[in-house]
Amino acid sequence: MRVTFLGTSAGVPTRARNVSAVALRLPQRGEVWLFDCGEATQHQIQRTDLRLGQITRVFITHLHGDHVFGLLGLLASIGLAGAAQPVELYGPAGLKDFVHSAARTTRTTLGEGLNINTVRAGLVYEDAEFTVSCLPLRHRLQSFGYRVQERDRTGRFDVERAAELGIPAGPLYGRLKRGEAVTLPDGRTVEGRTLCGPDIRGRSVVYCTDTTYCENSVELSRGADLLIHEATFVDEDAHLARQSTHSTAGDAARVAREAGARRLAVTHVSPRYAPGNPVEISALLRQARAVFPATTLAEDFMTIEVERKWD
Ligand SMILES: [Zn+2]
Ligand SMILES: [Zn+2]
Repeated sequence: MRVTFLGTSAGVPTRARNVSAVALRLPQRGEVWLFDCGEATQHQIQRTDLRLGQITRVFITHLHGDHVFGLLGLLASIGLAGAAQPVELYGPAGLKDFVHSAARTTRTTLGEGLNINTVRAGLVYEDAEFTVSCLPLRHRLQSFGYRVQERDRTGRFDVERAAELGIPAGPLYGRLKRGEAVTLPDGRTVEGRTLCGPDIRGRSVVYCTDTTYCENSVELSRGADLLIHEATFVDEDAHLARQSTHSTAGDAARVAREAGARRLAVTHVSPRYAPGNPVEISALLRQARAVFPATTLAEDFMTIEVERKWD
């Protein structure tokens, strides 16, 4: 699992930062899942080694323009590419209307395979490898945080030991590998778990924006390998954060600390800290690290490899 930031600015783009979008690459299956799609996200994608054709799922946190204005362009390009590429879109109520009305007005043909899902708190998607769940956050417009959780797997199967025990190779191995108990032709029962190494813990990535500090962010982020949380303002501008229902650097770091996350990346930073303005953005990183040292300030095109934790 690899995360690439495509836009890290709040509200409006700056020279160095585009508006919100995060790509989660799943190299093992050649797919990209996109989180939010601010204006010009497809241009940002063109500046990376990602391809539009890899996008299979798009998760939208909320309907503020800086998170969705790029959606129509992106979907149109995917549609025009001709491939009947199935794309599942997830987001709050209103997303379907937004996409369909904009497509109708502009006579845009959306791909046949586009499916728009309205999310509610809880499980949003699952397959054999991953689950995606969401919880409502606290913002002036209904907003959802998402958690992508890789499922745990049983550890390495000890083939040599299985052979020593005289277990015939074949379908029994498959069941033992899954940790099942198996009765052999000679009547012995073997517990699959005894032939498997320790469980391989699934990785998790959580994306919380836009929001003030809230308990649901903490809940969603429990033990996350990577928490991506908005930090629109520096701590001195807490009053602005409260007014606009956003977080400060300290708020984001507090969520990471309380949730026991392994790593925090702060994003969605206000353009008021762009170069040339009196308050430097380094303050934001310093303030977050004072609360949660394993913090990174996201930049456009920054990639973070989500490592497996071995314990
Ligand atoms: Zn925003
Ligand atoms: Zn917003």
